[in-house]
Amino acid sequence: MEVKSLDRAPGAPEPSPLELDERALALQERARGFAERVLMPLEEEAERRGGRLPDDVVAAVKREAIEAGLNGGLHAREHGGQGWTLLEWALVEEQYGRTTNAIHWHVPNAYNVWTHASAEQIDRYLRPALRGELKDAYAVTERDAGSDPSAITASADRTDSGFRLNAEKWFVTAGDVAAVYVVMANVVDGSERLPTLFVVDRDRPGVEIVSNPAYTHNYPEGHPTIRFRDVELSEQDVIGGVGGGDELQRSWFTEERLGIAARCGGAMWRLLDETVAWARRREQGGSRIYDHQGVSFPLADSAADAAAGRLLTLTVASLADSQADPKVVHHKASMAKLFTSEAAWRCADRCVQAFGGRGYLRSNVAERLLRELRVDRIWEGTSEIQRLIVARGLERRGVERILH
Ligand SMILES: Cc1cc2nc3c(=O)[nH]c(=O)nc-3n(C[C@H](O)[C@H](O)[C@H](O)COP(=O)(O)OP(=O)(O)OC[C@H]3O[C@@H](n4cnc5c(N)ncnc54)[C@H](O)[C@@H]3O)c2cc1C
Repeated sequence: MEVKSLDRAPGAPEPSPLELDERALALQERARGFAERVLMPLEEEAERRGGRLPDDVVAAVKREAIEAGLNGGLHAREHGGQGWTLLEWALVEEQYGRTTNAIHWHVPNAYNVWTHASAEQIDRYLRPALRGELKDAYAVTERDAGSDPSAITASADRTDSGFRLNAEKWFVTAGDVAAVYVVMANVVDGSERLPTLFVVDRDRPGVEIVSNPAYTHNYPEGHPTIRFRDVELSEQDVIGGVGGGDELQRSWFTEERLGIAARCGGAMWRLLDETVAWARRREQGGSRIYDHQGVSFPLADSAADAAAGRLLTLTVASLADSQADPKVVHHKASMAKLFTSEAAWRCADRCVQAFGGRGYLRSNVAERLLRELRVDRIWEGTSEIQRLIVARGLERRGVERILH
């Protein structure tokens, strides 16, 4: 069979089978430039400093992000965001996944739940967040309610002026630096418990950070435990209506899981870039270590994982953009998160092995990613919970709809 030669510069990437329009390709290029020029050079300093970069460096990252038009990607333009599709957003997250130490957390942004906020809440919290002037944090998990959020005990009792919140929330990402918390609590209405999201300013009386433990990764922000004791709230502090918490939570999960899947794909890309380059130049026993199949075959397995995971992730993002059944998208986003987070973890482990002793140095990207990728199999629902969601999808929506 004759193989046709293509009119393309040597080394140029293959044309993408996904239909990325000019806008998406330009955005991808901008995000790539930002990741390589602004974020990557800061990684080792961030690692040495336990994830916390100096204030002037953080301010410069924010400024560069805003100048590159990367702040508030999924938020509406009229609120100060970029109005991207999920596919465009996934392409940007993929670039962030190629970097370590989550320095991209400094790119001004806010949780998607603010889309359901009142005009006053949008002015007070969302717009400043997208300008990089304040941070939000999202508090659902509790000591006895993790994989099963229906077990939360946080309560908001009705009072004459609104509600009285009592809760203790665990693992609140950015809870140590956030000015505002979005807190899931049950509004107590007679015998009913109505899951509801509340907006709580950090400086309200009764809000207290009770511990801020160290974790495996060195990221810019902590994940503290926060107590809310008799915090007085009004009707204006509810987001999405009383009893609307569970539904908002589901759309949050779909988006966050796609983001994790995209970043894990980016992580595999970077890991393979660095490790293939290393294995091709490292010689032991008179030959390149890349010539040992014990080194190159695990990398080939990870390349197959990375390519399959990328296709799955971008396809699900595109499906979500096309207004497909949100329930099917929910199952598929879980499948993408499950596959890519497990694959990225295997990939990081294989790459550390290929680097030998150097793979155990904190200055090595594979070492940092090995630690950092671990949590992607835990947060936003563990791998076991993703398997439950996929299994439920196979049963309820049918095998074909979940696979194709
Ligand atoms: C660094 C970090 C940041 C986080 N940030 C946030 C945040 O910002 N906001 C927030 O609300 N939460 C956050 N979380 C919490 C996170 O979402 C939970 O840790 C996660 O959902 C798991 O809950 P858990 O830790 O209580 O584990 P558990 O639910 O106790 O699970 C323990 C083990 O049991 C397994 N298991 C549980 N139920 C089942 C089941 N039905 N079938 C099979 N296996 C099961 C789990 O898979 C897991 O392996 C964060 C966590 C971490 C580590």
